[in-house]
Amino acid sequence: MAIESHNPYTNEVLHSFPAFSAAETEQILAEAYQAAAEWRTTSFAERAAVLRQAAELLRRRQHELAHLMAIEMGKPVRDGRAEAQKCAACCDYYADHAESFLADEEIKTEGGRSFLSYAPLGVVLAIMPWNFPMWQVVRFAAPALMAGNVGLLKHAPNVPQCALALEKLFHDAGLPPAAFRALLIETEPVAGLIADDRVAAVTLTGSERAGAAVAAAAGQHIKKSVLELGGSDPFIVLADADLAVAAQTAAQARMINAGQSCIAAKRFIVEASIHDEFVALVKEHLQALHYGDPLDEATDYGPLARLDLAENLTQQVADSVAQGAHTELAGGQPDLDSPRFDPVILTNIRPGQRAYAEEFFGPVALVLSAQDADDAVRLANDSRFGLGAAVWTKDLAKAEAMARQLESGAVFVNGLVKSMNELPFGGVKKSGYGRELSFLGIREFVNQKSVWIG
Ligand code: NDP
Repeated sequence: MAIESHNPYTNEVLHSFPAFSAAETEQILAEAYQAAAEWRTTSFAERAAVLRQAAELLRRRQHELAHLMAIEMGKPVRDGRAEAQKCAACCDYYADHAESFLADEEIKTEGGRSFLSYAPLGVVLAIMPWNFPMWQVVRFAAPALMAGNVGLLKHAPNVPQCALALEKLFHDAGLPPAAFRALLIETEPVAGLIADDRVAAVTLTGSERAGAAVAAAAGQHIKKSVLELGGSDPFIVLADADLAVAAQTAAQARMINAGQSCIAAKRFIVEASIHDEFVALVKEHLQALHYGDPLDEATDYGPLARLDLAENLTQQVADSVAQGAHTELAGGQPDLDSPRFDPVILTNIRPGQRAYAEEFFGPVALVLSAQDADDAVRLANDSRFGLGAAVWTKDLAKAEAMARQLESGAVFVNGLVKSMNELPFGGVKKSGYGRELSFLGIREFVNQKSVWIG
């Protein structure tokens, strides 16, 4: 079957790539395995030179990369350029810090000298999603390559041109071609790759369903895996918060990538006394946003990446309303044949509704009313997910105490939850395990080797 590049805004098929045959995939794997043996012997300085060049190319090619993201998955070009720049900063960050993150660590033991050393694992398979088609890949690749690993990318089937553009960029930056390859393959051959002894580890960003399947295959073959899955991030607003800033950030946080982000704020948990005012302010901000062609500089949000994503969201909203949620802003799909989805606000979210339990991967703000801070934490934690969380209050001591109680991989106080190179990123519960970015991210795909010398 073919892997198809399809423009969600124009509904046009842009390109159709035949999926790689088993023989092609085998050859790429064999070459990657061989490249891993060589790449691991390079110095940090040599690897850093490649990553710095990749950063340079990401900046230089930001317009064409943004164009590809716009036409393949609907991201407005302004956001696409920002994504390319973020990727460049990540390459520079690991070029600068990998050596110190992976330096030997002396450990005191009885007798002798002991230290911990970090050695690369080899070929790492990365299964990546379409929502941040450059960033998700680069935040895996930059630390993995700097650690001395090589990467095989199985990207989402709707962003093959993004996958190939990144492959070319790394090659143009001077990376040995076999050390980073995009595999244009479907789901079926992935299990065979995970089973193959030449693949050392696997990382996946995507849905719970995909994560469970990949982790099961990795477990069966005793392989390290990292999973970055969905989230239904709480955004808690207490009565003493700066409401104007909180509401503006709430709208922004919900609309990241047209709502298709694992760390987009999804559940707004608001103290009862400010509930109505908060909803009114968020509504104003959401209504001011402009839908349009992702290639247009003036566009705030484009279509969802695929029609089925919009259809699924429409169903989730309809079911939740039937289960008692109130519609405060009735956006949704103006045309059921199009992946355009305008912002929606649902209130009166209660247990038993889909909106209470599920991730809404699109521009639907779910507002819950809390009695007080304790109730807000209880509601926030009553979720199968635990990726990011935000707390808005002027009482920073209270915010810190709440941050410690929240069951999530990150908590941001009075700010937008975002991924940053310096901060470890990942989840708990059904949001996954393992960490990306920062010093923890680069230590996921290494052999943490204890050496004792008597
Ligand atoms: P998927 O999880 O299906 O896709 C993500 C990646 O995983 C793709 O490369 C996909 O490729 C691959 N994949 C899926 N199933 C398997 C499998 N069994 N074995 C190996 N690889 C697999 O996400 P969707 O595109 O279907 O999006 C659906 C939902 O996933 C969203 O609504 C959202 O909840 C969540 N999601 C979360 C993301 C995040 O950032 N955490 C990103 C994207 C989606 P293929 O399709 O070829 O199998």
